[in-house]
Amino acid sequence: MTVHRSAERRATPTVRVGKVPVGSCHPIVVQSMTNTDTEDAAATARQVAALSRAGSELVRITVNTEAAAAAVPDICERLEQMACRVPLIGDFHYNGHRLLELYPECARLLAKYRINPGNVGFGKKRDDQFSSIIELAIRYEKPVRIGVNWGSLDQALLARLMDDNARLDEPQAADVVMREALVVSALENAEQAEKLGLAHDRIILSCKVSAVQDLISVYRSLAGRCDYPLHLGLTEAGMGSKGIVSSTAAMSVLLQEGIGDTIRVSLTPEPDQPRTDEVIVAQEILQTMGLRAFTPMVTACPGCGRTTSTFFQSLASEVTAYVRQRMPEWKQQRRGVEDMSLAVMGCVVNGPGESRHADIGISLPGTGEAPVAPVFIDGKKALTLRGDKLTHEFLDLIENYVADHYPAIGSDRGSQD
Ligand code: SF4
Repeated sequence: MTVHRSAERRATPTVRVGKVPVGSCHPIVVQSMTNTDTEDAAATARQVAALSRAGSELVRITVNTEAAAAAVPDICERLEQMACRVPLIGDFHYNGHRLLELYPECARLLAKYRINPGNVGFGKKRDDQFSSIIELAIRYEKPVRIGVNWGSLDQALLARLMDDNARLDEPQAADVVMREALVVSALENAEQAEKLGLAHDRIILSCKVSAVQDLISVYRSLAGRCDYPLHLGLTEAGMGSKGIVSSTAAMSVLLQEGIGDTIRVSLTPEPDQPRTDEVIVAQEILQTMGLRAFTPMVTACPGCGRTTSTFFQSLASEVTAYVRQRMPEWKQQRRGVEDMSLAVMGCVVNGPGESRHADIGISLPGTGEAPVAPVFIDGKKALTLRGDKLTHEFLDLIENYVADHYPAIGSDRGSQD
């Protein structure tokens, strides 16, 4: 896997989630979460497999009831039948201690437990229930994410910090104390988990909030006060462009500062929107920042008055869909294909220039231009396409480029042995 770095990552231990390493020098991991009823093992397994196929390297499922915990072995078996081996993370609230104790196969099969310190339990039971989950994680040799969320912040802790703040000569604003409470909650619970015997390299932290500036502020503080790997994500990011833009704005600032070892984009899907879109957005954040490469990127111009047809828009869309659809197979067969760059441009103004910068680029004719489309390969004009079969022919050129330029996986094994 090619890894590009535009920022030095903060130093952390490596936490192994199943076979996926998180933190240290390892690539920033993309993860996602299902929205199916976990009790419905068939639907959940199907969605986990779809998220994995889309590129999610870890998938979280909610484990909220006894039936959900009992369904975990069935989900894992179905995934095995689909040859899907993505590590599954269990998301626990309120009753995790009981479910993990009552359903040992669930505890054994999950690759990580996520617990929310604000929802582990209340009053005197809270510490006992937290201890039980940590002891189960130790027994089953699992890492734990201590995932604080602004919507379910430990109220006793918040009240304590508010009281401390009120006694100061110059008290801080309530929102500053709230942000501090998120960080303190994560750090104190991590410390408590280590005191109970959970290894330092079995802990990942997160402190999710729903406002961009709050998220940046909270994670900067958290990153400066511990070396645990951090799970980044803006909680309740919202729908459509708002969810994408706010997640990208928040995470890109932090990633640029080297903060963040695994990311999740919490989009609310439109009624017919596939759940896998959150995976694509997470990958595109990392890829457009030059931090990782997942799939060939297609550069396309926005179009303007120089293009009278929408043909170039449909070509850009078909090329993008094609490489995404082909990528799972290419990834198995061709080393480095994720680094390929493509350009689909609307006219001669920027078309040839942008096409020369791509591995393969096509410049379609704009208004008044001759009805031909020059194709550039590796920076040189290679041929001209025209006519009804242009899309088909351009996709063929992409296939040929992949076959010619990216070595078959396994083909170089003999010479290394
Ligand atoms: S490349 Fe041509 S069609 Fe595309 S935006 Fe620029 S001028 Fe307009």
